[in-house]
Formats: sequence, C-alpha cells, structure tokens
Amino acid sequence: MITLDKVTKRYDNGQVAVRELSLEVPEGDICILVGPSGCGKTTTMRMVNRLIEPTAGRILLDGEDVTDVDPVGLRRRMGYVIQQVGLFPHHTVADNVATVPLLLGWDKARVGDRTDELLELVGLPPADYRDRYPHQLSGGQRQRVGVARALAADPPVLLMDEPFGAIDPISRDRLQREFLRLQETVRKTIVFVTHDIDEAVTLGDRIAVMDVGGELARFGTPNEILSD
Ligand code: ADP
Ligand code: ADP
Repeated sequence: MITLDKVTKRYDNGQVAVRELSLEVPEGDICILVGPSGCGKTTTMRMVNRLIEPTAGRILLDGEDVTDVDPVGLRRRMGYVIQQVGLFPHHTVADNVATVPLLLGWDKARVGDRTDELLELVGLPPADYRDRYPHQLSGGQRQRVGVARALAADPPVLLMDEPFGAIDPISRDRLQREFLRLQETVRKTIVFVTHDIDEAVTLGDRIAVMDVGGELARFGTPNEILSD
C-alpha cells in the first residue's frame, strides 16, 4: 500500500506544485492521477520514487517512509514507466528489459529466462523481438518494452506517467485493454498519471482528480467521479 500524507512540494523558485495531497492506494489497485497540465501529477510521481523530496508531508510504502529506503531497495520495489520510454538506443530489447536484474546481480540464465517471460507477457514474442534495437520498433512496441522493463525485478509497485500518451488512439485502446489483462496476472499496486479522463475511467479502480495549484479536487471510484 502507498500512503501520501499531506504531501507538499514547493520548488526552489517558490512555485507550489503539490499542496497537502493525501491519498491511499491499497495493494493491487490502480490509482489514477488525472488533471490538467501543470497540476502536479509528475511532481507527485517523482516524489513517490524519490527523484525529488517533498517540502512537507510523508510518503509511506507499506507503512515505511520512502526516505528510509535505500535507492537500490526502492528500485527493486517500484517500477517506473514514462511517456518517452527512455530505452537505451544501443542496447537490444532484451538488454533493456534486463537493466534492473543486471543491476541486482542476477545470474545470466535467470536474467535470460525472465526477459523472455516478460516479452511474451507484453505481447512481443522473444524469438522475434529480443535482439531488436529500439529504432526497429513502433511506438507502441517501445512502450511494451518499457512496461516489461519496469516489471523485470517483479516490484510490487508500478508508477506509470502517461505511458500511452504518445501512442495513436487506436493502438492506445488496444494497449489499455492488454494492460488491464496484464494487471489481472501481475496484480501490482499502480499509480498511473494521465490527463485523459476517459483513460482514467477505463483503467482506474480509484481516481484522484487534481486541480491547478496541486490540490486534490476529488477522489473516488470511476462511478463516483462520473456521477459528480
Ligand atoms: P503535471 O505533471 O500535472 O503537468 P508538473 O508536476 O510537471 O505537472 O508541474 C506542476 C507545476 O510545477 C507546474 O506549474 C510546473 O511549471 C512546476 N514545476 C515543475 N517542475 C518544476 C521545477 N523543476 N522547478 C520549478 N517549477 C516546476
Ligand atoms: P503501434 O500501433 O504504436 O505501431 P503496436 O504495438 O500496435 O504499436 O505495433 C503495431 C505494428 O507492429 C503492426 O502494425 C505491425 O506492423 C508491427 N508488428 C506487430 N507484430 C509484429 C511481429 N511479430 N513482427 C514484426 N512486426 C510486427
């Protein structure tokens, strides 16, 4: 479970990006952060995975303050997927997926098995895809590799920041459906950022609607949000 307790972020220039944000994401749920550009979604994600520190408030992972978890431990517990997926261009698909396992010192055979298993899971048959380079993939396929990479060390938590934002609408529909099917298998605790309310309603167990100024405007199930 992820808990945000009155989290505030004020940047050095005085800009308050997130204001007293409190949220709970139960284990195995998909929580969507939705809201207009500039409302603090990415800032929130970056605080959860400790790329930046909150100015005030606390973020807990299963009750433990993330500031007490060492960086490698945190990488092991949270996978991160962003819009411009950031694959290493000179590494093959398989090596990209294996980034964290290699960092954790897994042996070669285990890394290879895990990589193939994940490529299969995200719909990129390893025989066809493991030796390709990122420029030999479509945008949708690159995002699939990003998801596989985030899942590699089997972290309980996935943070996804507009993972389908740069994908054309038809491919995005398919990726969303496959993502929900994948979640039935892997059951991660997921925080998912989007500015698209339709995507929020399609994917979310709970939706946090944020306002410009970084405040939580509403929090509820898709039905509750839609009936407001
Ligand atoms: P979103 O992801 O919802 O578009 P962000 O979290 O990226 O919003 O940004 C929230 C606010 O914080 C915006 O007003 C943005 O301009 C500001 N901001 C983001 N990063 C920085 C930074 N490094 N320094 C100062 N202000 C920032
Ligand atoms: P996007 O829609 O963003 O391009 P997709 O993941 O939907 O991403 O991939 C779509 C394209 O990838 C297909 O139109 C097809 O040309 C190509 N493709 C899909 N599977 C294979 C495969 N097994 N081998 C080669 N190319 C493939």
